[in-house]
Amino acid sequence: MAVFSLSDFADHEQVVFVSDDKSGLKAIIAIHNSNLGPALGGCRMWPYASEDEAIRDVLRLSRGMTYKSAMARLKLGGGKSVIIGNPRTHKTPELLAAFARALEQLNGRYIAAEDSGTSVADMKIMAQLTSHVAGIVDKPSDQGTRSGDPSPATAYGVFVGIKAAVQEKLGRDSLAGLRVAVQGVGNVGLDLARQLKAAGAQLWITDIHREPLLQAGKELGATVVAPDEIFGLDVDVFAPCALGAVLNDTTIPQLKAAIVAGAANNQLAEPRHGVALMKRDILYAPDYVINAGGIIDVYHERIGFERAALIAHIEGIHDNLLEIFARARKEARPTGEVADAIAEERFMR
Ligand code: NAD
Repeated sequence: MAVFSLSDFADHEQVVFVSDDKSGLKAIIAIHNSNLGPALGGCRMWPYASEDEAIRDVLRLSRGMTYKSAMARLKLGGGKSVIIGNPRTHKTPELLAAFARALEQLNGRYIAAEDSGTSVADMKIMAQLTSHVAGIVDKPSDQGTRSGDPSPATAYGVFVGIKAAVQEKLGRDSLAGLRVAVQGVGNVGLDLARQLKAAGAQLWITDIHREPLLQAGKELGATVVAPDEIFGLDVDVFAPCALGAVLNDTTIPQLKAAIVAGAANNQLAEPRHGVALMKRDILYAPDYVINAGGIIDVYHERIGFERAALIAHIEGIHDNLLEIFARARKEARPTGEVADAIAEERFMR
């Protein structure tokens, strides 16, 4: 693959390929932009079908982090990393240590956090070898303390964002009776589904892992559907909380939802899919705006944690989205395009 000529490579400051024969580590660290501060972003572990797929994913994800942090008004740049492999079978302390050593060599230009396929426990293992990991500090919560896991903050931000989208599109404040399809009941999706249920929403859920899915269905009183059935359901909101590129030529024509609002990063397979959603009169909450709760949480960990300030910062996602929706409506432009324009004004020099 010719990496430099990939469109996803454009504007990247640095991309590092890491390998360690002993532990079997194969990883890619991408630093998109550090104008506003060190590049902070999740470390994803996933059994990519090919190295090309992993490269594309990390480049897209790191760019997304630059826009996300700028939009959320954080003094951070954008970066991301991927470890190629199945987290259930290939993750060992040796592999995590090899990755931590690679982080240390970057000297703080990139700071890793938990993401799909990695956990707070993994970050704590890495933290023994490098200080360039985040999301590892225990914090106060309603239940006493919670770990550094940013997922609850992300889920709360998505919940707040769904409220903004419902207000814009359906003209109401209450979520009672709202029909929501959640794709992926992992760390974020399950927490989001719990908040939606508590607000009176009716839920449809799916996941590729059957056991946790059935358990979640039971707990939430949700209707469980097969992964390929989630797109065409007759619901108000489709909430993608699994992986990226789920809004594409195959899935968009199937959607009956009036709103797409979920946690997954890089939901649009290509920018033109934002136009396709607009043409179908589906309101899309730009992914990096609605899923910023986690990075806001991690940022507050680094500047000294104060819970009220954190909650207020996350709740700012509501007004951020309303501003984007209003401008998109006025200018008849896709919401993602409007969000990008606002973010670029904030990080470009
Ligand atoms: P997770 O791995 O805990 O959960 C993802 C879930 O999606 C898993 O249960 C997985 O089995 C399922 N899944 C994967 N492919 C699927 C498919 N094709 N159909 C249905 N289900 C599928 O990850 P997470 O931490 O909950 O994150 C979910 C998404 O949100 C990811 O895209 C992540 O990048 C994004 N995100 C997470 C955070 C965070 O704080 N954790 C922050 C911002 C964005």
